Amino acid sequence: MSATSNPPTVTDQLVAANAEYATGFTDPGLAPAPARKVAVVTCMDARIDLPAALGLRLGDCHTLRNAGGVVTDDVIRSLTISQRALGTTSVVLVQHTGCGLLTLTEDFRHELEREVGQRPAWAVESFTDSDQEMRQSLRRVRTSPFLPHTDDVRGFVFDVTTGRLREIDAGITPGE
Ligand code: ZN
Repeated sequence: MSATSNPPTVTDQLVAANAEYATGFTDPGLAPAPARKVAVVTCMDARIDLPAALGLRLGDCHTLRNAGGVVTDDVIRSLTISQRALGTTSVVLVQHTGCGLLTLTEDFRHELEREVGQRPAWAVESFTDSDQEMRQSLRRVRTSPFLPHTDDVRGFVFDVTTGRLREIDAGITPGE
């Protein structure tokens, strides 16, 4: 590399890491269908090491991540394909403490619209109460007409400071 070249970007670093990864790579011969027949929906938060936290190995599960780990239409789309085309039968939802979505409000959407002159087609899906948000996400999965398997659908909040999961039971109404 010449002295005048730009320092590597993060993407350059990732590409270099991949080159190293590929030199030691052997095809594990995994099937596309997840071995443990489970789809996990979680937040994009960088602090959640999902395989380590849940004891998952390569080939075990489908992983769907978005801002907040919220069950959006696109998550339902992926879950539908996961269940109907790739054989998963269980759904695990994992939201977490300290989520960035807890600090956003619908003002985010209004400010965005003012700034760019266009209203986004999607909802921000911000929330102030993780438990309540999880119950709503559980309901969206359990009541989806597209999903053939809704018996084993469970929701948890992952504590980023302790690494522990706390289960949220949709059967318990808020305030109970
Ligand atoms: Zn989050």
